Amino acid sequence: MDTHTLPAADNHHNFTVASINLLASTPPTHLSGPLSASFRSASGFPELQFFLEPDGQHSLNFNLTTTQLFRLGEVQSLCVSEGSETIKEKTYSKGITIHFKDEEESSSFHSAFELWKSKVNVQGSTLPNGTISSSKSKFDDKIESSSAKMYFHYYGQLLHQQNMMQDYVRTGSYYAAVMENQADFAGRVVVDVGAGSGILSLFAAQAGAKHVYAVEASEMAGYAQKLIAGNPSLAQRITVIKGKVEEVELPEKADILISEPMGTLLVNERMLESYVIARDRFLVPNGKMFPTVGRIYMAPFSDEYLYVEVANKALFWQQQNYYGVDLTSLHGTAFQGYFSQPVVDAFDPRLLVAPAVSHVINFTTIKEEDLYEIDVPLKFTASVGTRIHGLACWFDVLFNGSTVQRWLTTAPGAPTTHWYQLRCVLAQPIYVMPGQEITGRLHMIAHSAQSYTINLTMSAKMWGPGAEQGGILQTSSGRFDLKEPYYRMSQPQAYSASQDQQSNQLLQSQDLQLPSLDEDGSDFIVQPQNDSTVQIH
Ligand code: SAH
Repeated sequence: MDTHTLPAADNHHNFTVASINLLASTPPTHLSGPLSASFRSASGFPELQFFLEPDGQHSLNFNLTTTQLFRLGEVQSLCVSEGSETIKEKTYSKGITIHFKDEEESSSFHSAFELWKSKVNVQGSTLPNGTISSSKSKFDDKIESSSAKMYFHYYGQLLHQQNMMQDYVRTGSYYAAVMENQADFAGRVVVDVGAGSGILSLFAAQAGAKHVYAVEASEMAGYAQKLIAGNPSLAQRITVIKGKVEEVELPEKADILISEPMGTLLVNERMLESYVIARDRFLVPNGKMFPTVGRIYMAPFSDEYLYVEVANKALFWQQQNYYGVDLTSLHGTAFQGYFSQPVVDAFDPRLLVAPAVSHVINFTTIKEEDLYEIDVPLKFTASVGTRIHGLACWFDVLFNGSTVQRWLTTAPGAPTTHWYQLRCVLAQPIYVMPGQEITGRLHMIAHSAQSYTINLTMSAKMWGPGAEQGGILQTSSGRFDLKEPYYRMSQPQAYSASQDQQSNQLLQSQDLQLPSLDEDGSDFIVQPQNDSTVQIH
């Protein structure tokens, strides 16, 4: 969206207000209406303009960069501004109370205000005084601000958006799901929940969306704006709004939501909750959601190499003479620490020792609170006699289009994605015989650092003589922090190999315009992508 134009889908930019009171004037001035008010962009400054007389000659203008709006009651609001150079008569801080003719007019005025204001933020103007109103949102209530700060800082960087865009299984599945189901987008209002670079908004616009609201909380919103402006045939149908989906206001409801809120093990980052909140705030009843459903899969695995690797990490702390220091008192803590890290990598599906079970999350119906705690009972039948080292997990999501249903899977054996798979390794392996039953529980509790604490218990009944008489169990359990995974990417993997090939192909087939090198002639090195990063989407 260009700075000097109105938001395309904002058909509420003209309002009628019943009356206004000027607060800073002596004597107090009451102007009874109906008066008209409008939002507009004047010489690059988005502003709110009240026409004081029917002829439209005299107006009172508020520069939105420095203006705040507060709701005082159902039909009454307070509008305060610091004053600015666009106001000819007065430069001091001023305020008015606004009386609306009804509640509906009041709320559409507030929505338009929020929309225009968020556009101010996207354009890079900052409020000199910070934001005055700071009613805490559902997001702020449950997420530590330090976690949110790091999180949005991460997504504000183009390299991480590129990393997701270069996951062709991911992005290609979204593109296919949208294009195969154009009927769900054509002529529809779309909200892109956590738009990042804006790529999914551009897909939706390509599929003929009437209008797309691209909501993005990080600084990436500015880049999304730029990317979208660089595609002029689509740009007029996309509005970028900088803010959290929990907080921004939109001028109209959406027919369909599109989003990529999946983290490691589907739920990491707790963005599914934002997706569900966006559904409740913006989606029309029975509106569509892309993706529609997610499923977490779990199966026991046996991997002696991985087990030894994790166990050996703590060996360092078994030294009794490390520069004359006995380290062994910390061995137990270190051992526990390594076994509390879920392992993220791509593994061979032949390591699985029983058919997987799944846990379904329907994004269209689940309550946000139901994602705070996820409890999955486990029951497997071992297909081989082996040592079980823990639980392997992955997920898939469904785009339930009206034309084509498409699944995006992160399963082992399927083309590798940047989510890889996740394994919880138990410090105490379990021995099983073929056909033996394994039971247990995967209990995940959300925490305020945008992730989950995972409690895993796995048990197998003893076999052999005596097993019939008593319920003698081998039980093993572990606690894992999904926020602190061990990225085990040094292994040869299908994904890295194919990524290398892709970048080689790119280098051969495209004319590369390299930015000019420094005078010192430093080398330009193209490295294969192999990010060990904090958040993985
Ligand atoms: N849709 C893009 C980016 C996906 S990554 C793509 O598919 O390529 C998820 C994005 O959602 C990140 O850019 C992150 O900053 C944003 N995000 C996460 N939680 C959000 C929230 N509550 N409100 C707005 N944006 C959010």
